Amino acid sequence: MNERTPTLQSKFPAMGTNIFTVMSALAAEKGAVNLGQGFPDFDCDPALVQNVTDAMTSGLNQYPPMTGIAPLREAISAKVEAVYGRRYDPVTEITVTAGATQAIITIILAVVRPGDEVIVLEPCYDSYVPNIELAGGIAVRVPLTPGTFRPDFDKIAAALGSRTRAIVINTPHNPSATVWSRDDMLRLQELLAPTDALLISDEVYEHMVFDGEPHQSATRFPGLAARAFVVSSFGKTYHVTGWKVGYVAAPAVLSAEFRKVHQFNVFTVNTPVQHGLASYMRNPRPYLELPAFYQRKRDLFRDGLKRTRFQLLPSQGTYFQCVGISDVTQLGEVDFCQWLTREVGVAAIPLSAFYAEGFDQRVVRFCFAKKNETLNQALDRLAKL
Ligand code: PMP
Ligand code: GLN
Repeated sequence: MNERTPTLQSKFPAMGTNIFTVMSALAAEKGAVNLGQGFPDFDCDPALVQNVTDAMTSGLNQYPPMTGIAPLREAISAKVEAVYGRRYDPVTEITVTAGATQAIITIILAVVRPGDEVIVLEPCYDSYVPNIELAGGIAVRVPLTPGTFRPDFDKIAAALGSRTRAIVINTPHNPSATVWSRDDMLRLQELLAPTDALLISDEVYEHMVFDGEPHQSATRFPGLAARAFVVSSFGKTYHVTGWKVGYVAAPAVLSAEFRKVHQFNVFTVNTPVQHGLASYMRNPRPYLELPAFYQRKRDLFRDGLKRTRFQLLPSQGTYFQCVGISDVTQLGEVDFCQWLTREVGVAAIPLSAFYAEGFDQRVVRFCFAKKNETLNQALDRLAKL
C-alpha cells in the first residue's frame, strides 16, 4: 500500500496563521486579558438566544432558501431603507451570508477574473488581499495617509485604470477606527463615476459610529450604490461573532452574479439563526442604541489609557482603539504585542498585520468590546507601563 501523501506546491507558500488566531492563542496560554482579536467578552441579548432556540425547537432545522429566509431578507431591506433611505428588493437584491468574511470572498470570486486589478486601501482587513489573489486578481495597494488614515483621493485616482475591476473600502475602519465623511463618499462617487469599477463596501461596523455622527453607508449615495456590494455582519451588531451570519445588499444584476458563486460556496446559511435574527430585527432599539453603548466603553478605555504613556489616536467608530507605542518601548509592533501579552498580561494586535508588507509605524490596536471589569483589569496592568 502506498501511503505517501503527494507533494503539494502551496498556493500560499508565505501564508501563516492569521494574527487574530495567533494572538488569541497566546493570550489564552498566558492568561492575558485579550484585547487583541475583535470580539465581545459579554453575552448577547438572551431574547436573541431565545428566538433561535424557539426556531430550533419548532423544527426549523432544514435547508433554508439559498438566498436566505424571506423574513430575514425583508427585515434587512426594511432596516437599510429606514436607516439609509435606499430600498433594496429583498427578493433580488439581498443575500444572507455566513458572515462578512464569506460575503467578501464570494463577491471577489464572482467578479474578479485573472489579471483584473482590485484596489485595497492599506491598512486593511487581512482577508482582502488573499481573496483577490485566490481569484487570480492583482491587489493594488493604496496607502491611507500615514498618521491620520484618511483616504488619499489623488492616490486612489492614480491607481484607477482600465483594468480596475473593483475597489474595496471599509468604514468604520478596522484597524484605525476612523470613519469616512460624507465628503469622502462624495469624492469617491465622483472618482468612480466615469469608470466601470465596482465598489465592495465593507460596513460591518455600520452601527458603531460615535459622537452623534451618522454612518456614511454607500447605500446613501446613488452613484455608489448602483455599483456596490454592501456587506454587513450580525456578529458585530448583535454581539454574536461566533454565529457567522451577515448579508450582502447589491443591485439585482450584481446580486445575481454573487448568488451564482454563493450557491456553490456555502449554498445556504444556518436556518434557526436566520429565523432568530429575523424576529429580533423587528425591534430597532438594539442597533440604534449600539453607538451609545460602545461610546461609553470607548470613553472608559480612553480615560484609563490617559494614565499611560501610550499616544491615543482618535476612535470615531468600530470597537477598536489604536495607540502609538514609541514613548513606551523600543520594540517593533509585533515584538511589543508578544511582550505585552507575556509580561504585562494584555493582548493587542500590531497594525503591521494589516499591511501586506508588514509596515511598522509603532501603532497597536486594542479592542474595547469587553465588560467594564475586563477593561479596568487591562487598564490596571497597562498603567504600570
Ligand atoms: N471585515 C472587517 C473589517 C472585520 O473587522 C471583520 C470582523 N472580523 C469582518 C469583515 C468579518 O466579519 P464576520 O465575522 O462576519 O465574517
Ligand atoms: N474582526 C476581528 C478583528 O479584526 C476578528 C477577525 C478574525 O478573527 N478573523 O480582530
